[in-house]
Amino acid sequence: MSDSRVAGIGMTSARTRERLITRLREQGIKDEAVLDRIRNVPRHLFVDEALSSRAYEDTALPIGFGQTISQPFVVARMTEALLSAGPLRNVLEVGTGCGYQTAVISALVTRVESIERIKPILDRTKVRLKELGIKNVRLKHGDGAEGWKAHAPYDAILVAAAPLSVPQALLAQLSPKGGRLILPVGPEGAQELLRITRREEHFLREKLGAVSFVPLVGGMG
Ligand code: SAH
Repeated sequence: MSDSRVAGIGMTSARTRERLITRLREQGIKDEAVLDRIRNVPRHLFVDEALSSRAYEDTALPIGFGQTISQPFVVARMTEALLSAGPLRNVLEVGTGCGYQTAVISALVTRVESIERIKPILDRTKVRLKELGIKNVRLKHGDGAEGWKAHAPYDAILVAAAPLSVPQALLAQLSPKGGRLILPVGPEGAQELLRITRREEHFLREKLGAVSFVPLVGGMG
């Protein structure tokens, strides 16, 4: 992909992106590595061209198939919560979508495995991540509620769609030595972001605030 497409012009330029970073800081995002990554990931390349002028607004946008690209603040908040206990080796992401969150975390951890249930979305994302030169991500079509056992245990698991209760398979695939699961839980309109930290067979639950995600859907689309 050409450098100018990645760098953007006009409403996708460096100045527009800097405004988003200022806004994220005002909302309490402090991790400089996370802010830097959000500054550098070309979010306009993760949405339809017709929406690219809105790509650096702090808002979720439609990506087709009834799904959305996450709001930058939410991506920043989740990534910050994920990294707060130190470096991570492997991260499982559930709900790849357009791959924006995947791209943000890929540069901050050693490896990412990511699962998406809608095949056409996943196929486009595969091409996009390749074009952006992101190589430490493995993608899979499937039901993320079951996790991805082959690469477990995970230092962290990040879920981008909300189940009604915490999937047992994800708890079981966390590293027993401080593995952390960040996920929204609850019905539409009443979801809460949780961080669950595993120490052997003990699971510490912390509430990180109200959020709004698409529902985690069972089975394959
Ligand atoms: N991470 C994306 C946002 C994804 S939106 C970003 O950075 O913008 C949530 C995604 O989760 C959707 O693409 C949806 O299809 C997917 N999803 C919902 N239920 C799922 C499941 N059970 N397994 C895997 N993916 C699922």
